[in-house]
Amino acid sequence: MDFTIISGFLDKIGKIMNLTEKELVLLKTPQRIHQAELELDGQKYPAYRIQYNDARGPTKGGIRYHWEVSFDEVKSLAFWMSLKTAVADVPFGGSKGGITVNPKELSQDQLQQLSRKWVQAFYRHIGPTKDIPAPDVYTTPQIMAWMMDEYEKLIGEKAPGVITGKPLEVGGSLVRDIATALGGIYVLEEAVKKVSLDKKTVAIQGFGNAGMNMAKLLFQSGYSIVAVSDSKGAIYNPLGLNVDELIHTKTQSGTVIAYKNGTTISNEALLELEVGVLVPSALSNVIHKENANKVKAKIVLELANGPTTPEADEILHQNKVLVLPDILSNSGGVTVSYFEWVQNNTGLYWKTEEVKERLREKMVVAFEKIWAEYENNNYDFRTNTYILAIKKILVAEKLRGRL
Ligand code: NAD
Repeated sequence: MDFTIISGFLDKIGKIMNLTEKELVLLKTPQRIHQAELELDGQKYPAYRIQYNDARGPTKGGIRYHWEVSFDEVKSLAFWMSLKTAVADVPFGGSKGGITVNPKELSQDQLQQLSRKWVQAFYRHIGPTKDIPAPDVYTTPQIMAWMMDEYEKLIGEKAPGVITGKPLEVGGSLVRDIATALGGIYVLEEAVKKVSLDKKTVAIQGFGNAGMNMAKLLFQSGYSIVAVSDSKGAIYNPLGLNVDELIHTKTQSGTVIAYKNGTTISNEALLELEVGVLVPSALSNVIHKENANKVKAKIVLELANGPTTPEADEILHQNKVLVLPDILSNSGGVTVSYFEWVQNNTGLYWKTEEVKERLREKMVVAFEKIWAEYENNNYDFRTNTYILAIKKILVAEKLRGRL
């Protein structure tokens, strides 16, 4: 998302919260910007690390490898991370990093070299008590392992807490692989206690890490998944899809539309289905002012980052659709990243059930705090979520005497 949209949104929230000019400027300004140009085999790749706000703790945020990575995008994502860590109530600030590169064009060896170069460029600015990266789009547990290794080589000591999302064998946490979807489920479970659903039917846009795990977990907990999609299109069956078979089809043929027991529909049509829950888990800005009025779901659970535009948000709110925003719904990932960091720093490793239970507790508390405000005012759920996060950041800033 464009930072000008975030800036406009902050102005709107600033009025609601009666923020001072100084507070608004602080919220609109990243604290530290690090940029570099990484050279590999004669090519130059722009690289970034933006540490947006550290009032609540060391900064935390993923590293994205994508050909569209830009300064503006990294800045927007770093801002979002600052809010997300506040909503999840983990003791971190927010940051983000990236490289403007098409990783699909690199060999494994080049990918490793480029990842090590990112660490060489920024290692003085990261660390377990400074700034802790993690995976994001097209960065994997393997890349996190290379980066940790490079960091440890440069500082001359072991420091597994420098990065999260690592493979289990080198200090990763159990549950991290499904944490985003599982956190989303815990939020949904609380929401359906408040907004009763006639039918437990779900449509999921996107069938990658977030969407596929969501489909699997919801299917296991008794929801009927009537539609799912990927970049090739969507598959629909009003009687419910068999998710285990769908995963098999996706693995075999590369797309969900090859699944036999359903009809193909467009990705746009999926968003307009008459379902209890709609889960956008792919791209940004897919629900916008042209299609928001056609959304018939009672609950929109945003696993993707930024799937709903601000105009669409207003329309959905008027239509009494409950939108559970990304910074809450997909914060299970950063929460389990926090657990990974705690385990690395203490050297004590937790069992699956312990991680799950701690995650549930965090998500339930976060949802309840926002719901308590939402019930008592006329603002939409997202606005209430932002207000809560901004309050926490500003309180920390004031306690530090920086504001
Ligand atoms: P992914 O690359 O694993 O999966 C993306 C999926 O979206 C794929 O199935 C792809 O086919 C599908 N897709 C692409 N274009 C599409 C289109 N036009 N219509 C429908 N589907 C399309 O990515 P992911 O990790 O699952 O992330 C998805 C979203 O969730 C992103 O917005 C990401 O920022 C967000 N998110 C993910 C995590 C996580 O832990 N994976 C955490 C927080 C936020």
